[in-house]
Amino acid sequence: MGTDDDALDDDALEYHASDPPGKLEIATTKPTNTQRDLSLAYSPGVAAPCRKIADDPDDAFTYTTKGNMVGVVSNGSAVLGLGDIGAQASKPVMEGKGVLFKRFADIDVFDIELDQTDADDVVESVAAMEPTFGGINLEDIKAPECFEIETRLREEMDIPVFHDDQHGTAIISGAALLNAAEIAGKDLSELEVVFSGAGASAIASARFYVSLGVKRENVTMCDSSGVITEDRDVNEFKAEFAQPGDGGDLADAMDGADVFVGLSVGGIVSEEMVQSMADDPIVFAMANPDPEIAYEDAKNARDDTVIMATGRSDYPNQVNNVLGFPFIFRGALDVRATDINEDMKVACAEALADLAKQDVPDEVVKAYGDQPLQFGSEYIIPKPLDPRVLFEVAPAVAKAAQESGVARTSLDLEEYREELEA
Ligand code: NAP
Ligand code: MG
Repeated sequence: MGTDDDALDDDALEYHASDPPGKLEIATTKPTNTQRDLSLAYSPGVAAPCRKIADDPDDAFTYTTKGNMVGVVSNGSAVLGLGDIGAQASKPVMEGKGVLFKRFADIDVFDIELDQTDADDVVESVAAMEPTFGGINLEDIKAPECFEIETRLREEMDIPVFHDDQHGTAIISGAALLNAAEIAGKDLSELEVVFSGAGASAIASARFYVSLGVKRENVTMCDSSGVITEDRDVNEFKAEFAQPGDGGDLADAMDGADVFVGLSVGGIVSEEMVQSMADDPIVFAMANPDPEIAYEDAKNARDDTVIMATGRSDYPNQVNNVLGFPFIFRGALDVRATDINEDMKVACAEALADLAKQDVPDEVVKAYGDQPLQFGSEYIIPKPLDPRVLFEVAPAVAKAAQESGVARTSLDLEEYREELEA
């Protein structure tokens, strides 16, 4: 570790330890000055809202924090860059997620770290917490359990359950794919897409690209043993993308491909492999912190345009989940949605892709060091600090919820957008 990393570590420890420890606190939102105030907040006054909710559970959205409260739930089994560090050690990450929810979408979070590894136990615990929350963000739970946990909770619960490591990546990179394909002049239904990685984020991204119009049979997925073929013995999630034939390795798969999607490990793609791809290739090398191929190497590999995205903030086209989850939950909560369904995810990706085509306000250009931000191969998705993401994405998600029948309430979307903009 270099001195820069050491300095960052020191600063991070100081940031977290300064009084009060951690990054979040509970604040009251109603007057608490008089005895009268206290008897409204608690006994005996509090009985009145309790009775209302006992009569009609939806009144919880009117009289409690439920409608603006997300549970960020983890068991610490696949923490970003750190692996299976357990529930307690994951708490700084979950508190951090709470910070991002608040900062970007004014959503309140309880971070919930569960000391449980078994999928049944996690499902039981989370399902039992439904009264507290308007939505659940599952976080850093390892594959393949994460698929089963999310699927079962979505079935059991009447509030949205969203595993961000799966869908966040899928949606943001999906938005990038929509624009990259447009710039390359290719139709999604004709793209040959190769994945390196077959874990939480890769499986979810492959499924989502199919929702966006990529043909399932045009997806080739590689894991640490090479191309996933029908005759390999793999889990049911990998099997969804198994190909007929002999398979081969990642280099074989990339030969002639239009799109490379890396959600695996750094440094496994060579310049030769990028050279073997089709014209104007799309290279999303998203392993963190080191991409499957360095930005410069992919760009230098060829004379035509390589449309490149990574997970890094120091290069163009950072695929950053913060472009998604705050605003998806904002839209979902504001229509009291019972689910975050595929239509809402697609609406988010399309709204992000559209926003990248609009002129970027000066304040955003300034915030990113005055680099030119104009739709093209170096700018295919909006920047995380662009304030327009809130009022473009949240209403699009709310609209999709209303139209797909998972909204408990209906909003005037024009008014809603204006409120968010104000
Ligand atoms: P995961 O569930 O652990 O999956 C990792 C996958 O990579 C596994 O399928 C594994 O294969 C595969 N793999 C490992 N070594 C490989 C190799 N040499 N060649 C091909 N595949 C290999 O992890 P995840 O959560 O999906 O994350 C994967 C990577 O994507 C991480 O680096 C993560 O930081 C990054 N990521 C980035 C973003 C972003 O940029 N926004 C978002 C999410 C994830 P086996 O199945 O054979 O073990
Ligand atoms: Mg995560």
